[in-house]
Amino acid sequence: MENLTNINVIKNIMERHGFSFSKSLGQNFLVNPSVCPKIAEMGNASEGWGVLEIGAGIGVLTNELAKRADKVAVIEIDGRLIPILKETLAEHNNIEVINEDVMKADLAGIIKENFAGLKVAVCANLPYYITSPVIMLLLESRLPIDSITVMVQKEAGKRICAGMGTREAGAVTAAVRYYSEPKMLFDVSRGSFMPAPNVDSCVIRLDVRKEPAVHVKDEKLFFRTVRGAFSQRRKNLANSLSSSLGMPKELVSAAIAEAGLAENVRPEQLSLEELAAVSDSIAKYL
Ligand code: SAM
Repeated sequence: MENLTNINVIKNIMERHGFSFSKSLGQNFLVNPSVCPKIAEMGNASEGWGVLEIGAGIGVLTNELAKRADKVAVIEIDGRLIPILKETLAEHNNIEVINEDVMKADLAGIIKENFAGLKVAVCANLPYYITSPVIMLLLESRLPIDSITVMVQKEAGKRICAGMGTREAGAVTAAVRYYSEPKMLFDVSRGSFMPAPNVDSCVIRLDVRKEPAVHVKDEKLFFRTVRGAFSQRRKNLANSLSSSLGMPKELVSAAIAEAGLAENVRPEQLSLEELAAVSDSIAKYL
């Protein structure tokens, strides 16, 4: 098989198929040969595993996944890439290419059809414009997924993997930690892509928990509380929650006190357990 990280090989494929990069679909293809094998190895692509990939591009990561895992299903939105993938993935018989938008695809059905009896990993070099929505979709849908290993912009990766109670923590930190244990794996420079983006990237892995990290009375309210708490980072918790939940400040203050916290506590100081306690006491006042 041709080397899909070789720029001349890529240019040749693109020319033969009349393909040009779409910026709006986040098409920055990996050309650093060491990155895809590392994502595949650290992302659980191995015997006994099925891997769901999001965004095939010309199949550079797909090939590395298919060499190691029992089965690969890859979702690619851009129909122009499908004939290219037929060519570049031809030597594998364990790959299913699905021409759909990941945000609209029947992920539960795809997993059921392709990965019966296998553990399931997601591996992807995610298109930047939908990084957080894809991660939250995968976690919130409660799909039978064991791990999610994704390339994201470095800033997004730092925010997702930040510790609770640190300045970098945000709503996405809390939401991701509720469902999984995040880990920063390695950095990838902008020069590893064609075309090169304006920012560096990193690869993170989320090991999905069997049970959420904290038990809450009302999950929807918990996520509203999390989003509300971090919505106005310079305000204290009582003010942020009062305006985001549309509740009188006295009631929010009472709920915060009941959760054992000071009214002027700042959202980024809170642990997941404390956010859960606040949301549980707010539930009583709604
Ligand atoms: N995996 C390849 C690589 O590493 O070189 C391509 C990665 S590129 C950053 C992102 C890919 O996701 C592109 O091929 C793009 O067409 C595809 N994509 C963008 N939006 C998508 C969506 N909503 N659903 C599925 N694929 C999408």
